[in-house]
Amino acid sequence: MKLNVHEIEEIAKELVYEESTGSLNGLLVHGQVCDFEFPTPAEVRLDYYRAGQELFFQGHISGEVIGHCARCLEGYTFDIDKDFHVVLVPKQPLAEAVELDDDDLDLSFYDGDAVDLSPLVLEQIILALPTRPLCRDSCQGLCPTCGVNLNTEHCSCAAPSGDPRLAVLRNLKVGH
Ligand SMILES: [Zn+2]
Ligand SMILES: [Zn+2]
Repeated sequence: MKLNVHEIEEIAKELVYEESTGSLNGLLVHGQVCDFEFPTPAEVRLDYYRAGQELFFQGHISGEVIGHCARCLEGYTFDIDKDFHVVLVPKQPLAEAVELDDDDLDLSFYDGDAVDLSPLVLEQIILALPTRPLCRDSCQGLCPTCGVNLNTEHCSCAAPSGDPRLAVLRNLKVGH
C-alpha cells in the first residue's frame, strides 16, 4: 500500500486496507523469516497525518498466521493483534541527529513522493511474532531416534533423558 506524501495532511485521515498474502509472504521470505506464513490477508487500520515534514501513522494490524513448530514441525494457526505507532521523517544526511523522547515511537525514514506502508506493516508484524514458533508450550516434539510425533504417537525408543517415571516403564517392558 503506497501513499502519496503530498496527500498526507495535518488533519488525520483514516485508512483501512488488506495487506495481501503475496506481499506479506514475499516480504517474509525476503526477510528470511520462513517459520511463518500468512494463509489470509492481514487487515490494517490506521490514522495518518503530518506535522511539518514528519509523517505519523498509528493503527492496528490483525491477521492469521501459520507457524511451523520448531519442535514437532507441524503447522499451527494463531492470531496477530498489534497496535503500532510509526513516525517517518525525510531521509537526509542529518537524519541521525533527529531525537525523539518517546521510546514507544518507531522512527523510520521516507524518501521521495511516496510512502510504502507494506514494509512498515511487515516490520510491526515481525515484532509481534514469537522468536521461536511452538504449537504449544508443552509440545513433546519428535522422537530423536525414529522421528514420530510424540504429541500424537508413542514409540518404543529409549527416552533420551532420565525421567524416572519413564525409566520404570522401560524396566517393566524389559521384564516382559
Ligand atoms: Zn509442536
Ligand atoms: Zn522413537
